[in-house]
Amino acid sequence: MAATPLVPFNDLHAQYRSIQPEVDAAIARTIRNSAFIRGPEVDAFERNFAAVVGAKHCVSCANGTDALFIAYRALGLQPGDEVITSAHSWIATAETITQAGGQVVFADTDPATFTLDPADVARKITPRTKGLVPVHLYGQPANLGALGELTRRHGLWMVEDCAQAHLARCGGRTVGTFGAIGTFSFYPGKNLGAMGDAGCLVTNDDALAAFAAKFARHGGLRKGEHEIEGINSRLDGLQAAILNAKLPHLERWTRERRRLAAEYDRKLAGVGDLVRPPVAPGRDHVFHLYVVRTARRDALRAHLETRGIQTQINYPAALPFLPAYQRFGHQPADFPVAYAHQSQVLSLPLFPEMTAGQLDQVVDAIQAFFGGRVAR
Ligand SMILES: *Cc1c(COP(=O)(O)O)cnc(C)c1O
Repeated sequence: MAATPLVPFNDLHAQYRSIQPEVDAAIARTIRNSAFIRGPEVDAFERNFAAVVGAKHCVSCANGTDALFIAYRALGLQPGDEVITSAHSWIATAETITQAGGQVVFADTDPATFTLDPADVARKITPRTKGLVPVHLYGQPANLGALGELTRRHGLWMVEDCAQAHLARCGGRTVGTFGAIGTFSFYPGKNLGAMGDAGCLVTNDDALAAFAAKFARHGGLRKGEHEIEGINSRLDGLQAAILNAKLPHLERWTRERRRLAAEYDRKLAGVGDLVRPPVAPGRDHVFHLYVVRTARRDALRAHLETRGIQTQINYPAALPFLPAYQRFGHQPADFPVAYAHQSQVLSLPLFPEMTAGQLDQVVDAIQAFFGGRVAR
């Protein structure tokens, strides 16, 4: 039997214990009402989440991947339409473009922030380009100023993939409201997580919201009504009740993530060749992940593993180099930044319930690996 890790990558059970009475009551209430699909908890969550983000509408759905698919369909993507997205993301951002009938076009990332590089996006725009999909990767907003400028100049829409960036802000405004649509995931490990799959999109556009709500529910909002063909992508009552119980804690959890990231930043300064995650001016990072870079990534990861410290690689291959996109024939030189990062990035443990002792164990182990700077 493997020993329990000293420092887990994330600790969902610790979070549950910290708010157990609220979560248990929400689950019991939903079982009592038998409101398992849609129902009052779902309606309430849509209102609550829209208010927190500062958007006019929130349309819930089954997961963050569906939210992207529904967004592209709501924006009327047609076969042959090109959509530019980040070479460095989770596959959901790109695969849904294909499934909605569009053509995925990857652009490289900015060397510092891991987010879409507006200069490379500009090079990829053609007469067939319809939209841009920045990803606020790891919790840091993409360069929304420069990308917004490109959408206005070329008449494009923007969908923000906010799956990792709940409550992140850019120039004081919450992400999800910069583009036509912002999509969110409530996968259990995300900054706001359900106890199963869940997702939503937010928008200030009445027509997009109305289409998305209908499309996600077999093309109609009332039983027996099907104005269009749609899909089945609904939020469960139980998940909505759990999310309603957790949402009031999100600000505090986000502050904790920022505080822990600042601790890492301070204690890992000048250690080996480690590059700490830079935050661009005017952007509020919510540290879904704390991702460092080092040329000795694999050896460092193995060293931490032997000390019971769990880490992750997000992600082992940039999207253009996955077998799923082999058809494009992309070469490393096409996306030099994303390609270099895929062998350097390492996500360290960071979750709101992480203790000072756990963080120091990670720091000590990293300092020991690089052989120095033991004093903190
Ligand atoms: C988690 C994630 C998604 C997908 O969300 P699911 O709820 O798992 O479907 C999409 N994009 C990014 C960047 C993600 O991290």
